Formats: sequence, structure tokens, C-alpha cells
Amino acid sequence: MAVTGGRAGHGSHSGAHPPYIPASGSTVLSGYTRPLARLIEQFERLPGIGPRTAQRLALHLLRQPEEQVRSFADALLAARSQVGHCQRCFHLSADPLCEICRNPERQGGQICVVADSRDLLAMERTREFRGTYHVLGGLISPMDGIGPDLLQIQPLVRRVAEDSSTPIEEVILALTPSVEGDTTSLYLARLLRPFTQVSRIAYGLPVGGELEYADEVTLARAFEGRRPVE
Ligand SMILES: [Zn+2]
Repeated sequence: MAVTGGRAGHGSHSGAHPPYIPASGSTVLSGYTRPLARLIEQFERLPGIGPRTAQRLALHLLRQPEEQVRSFADALLAARSQVGHCQRCFHLSADPLCEICRNPERQGGQICVVADSRDLLAMERTREFRGTYHVLGGLISPMDGIGPDLLQIQPLVRRVAEDSSTPIEEVILALTPSVEGDTTSLYLARLLRPFTQVSRIAYGLPVGGELEYADEVTLARAFEGRRPVE
């Protein structure tokens, strides 16, 4: 009796319907017509997009000319269906070989090894490296069940050991200073050292930091300060 009585006292006005989305940011989309709710839900699935941003983006799109929305949708579908991986370095590419691998001005004798394409793009922003890349597709992490076989390690070894067109003078490991990055670096160094010099970027990178988020100067310095892997 005490509980219901207390609530009833404050509840005289709370029966009114809230006009829009609940302030709690829950995904209950009351007050939205179904197609709009569906669009907001799709935006909310994207990384870094909360309910409010999802709502803002969806309402923004509704105000655009239909032609603009159509080309947005086309770009999404085209990117999804056309972008695959470079056959040589495994960077994202719509062609069998990516732009970097096709560029005759890139020196083939140096390979910079990165965990994923985001790290490759971070390295490119420094404009420090003029060789080619190899994208592993992740780092060795036994805790997460990611062993060497799940990564593009054998293709890297083949590139270094067997690709006779360009002798590989140096493999530069640009992997994060973390347990996984260290494990992967040591594993790769052991495999590659019989064929080439193996070094690892080190200087100035915060331990456990994501390569992607390092600023360009820090990353460029880390690259210059690379050291042979012992
Ligand atoms: Zn490539």
C-alpha cells in the first residue's frame, strides 16, 4: 500500500505520452513511423553511433533530394560488393592488385607489415615509407583463439622467400607494442630472418596504443627509430 500510494502521488501527470524518443537512449523507437525507425536502427548498428546521432543522420537523409540519397545507397552497395583484398599485400582493393602494389614508384625491396588496413593508412599518412606493405589481418592472440594460420603469414613468407622478381632487403614490422604485437613480431622474425633483415618500429609509440591513433609525427619517428628484432 505504501509503495503504490507513493507512486500514485507523483503519477498524476506522468500518464502523458512522451512526444519523441525516450531520453534514456534506449532503442525503443516510439513515435516513429516504421520506415524511419528502421533507418535509425541501421545507423545505430554502426560503430560510434549512438541513438541521438542515429536519429540526426536519419532525419538529415530524409531532407535530402532523392537523387542524393540514391547515390549514397549506391555507394554503400558498390563498396560492399566491389572491395576485396589485394592478392599480394591483402590491403583493401577493388582490383586484383592494390594501388600501392601497382605503383612502379614504390620500392619493392622493403615490406612494411601491419595488422590491418587502418594501420596501413596511418603509415601512408606519415609519407615516411616508400616501399610496399603486407596486411596480416590481425595479430596472433592465443587468448582469442587467433593462431598464425588465421593470418596472412604464409603469403608473407612466400613473398619474402620466393618472389624472385624483387629481392626483399628489409621487412619492417609496424605492429602495436602490446602482448599480441610482441608475440606476432617474434613469430614473424623467426620465420623471416633466414631470408632478410627484420626490424620493428619502436620509438615513441605508447605501449598498448593503437597504431591507427598515433599522430603522424609520432608514427614517423617510430618508423625512423626502427630496430632489428633480436
Ligand atoms: Zn597490394
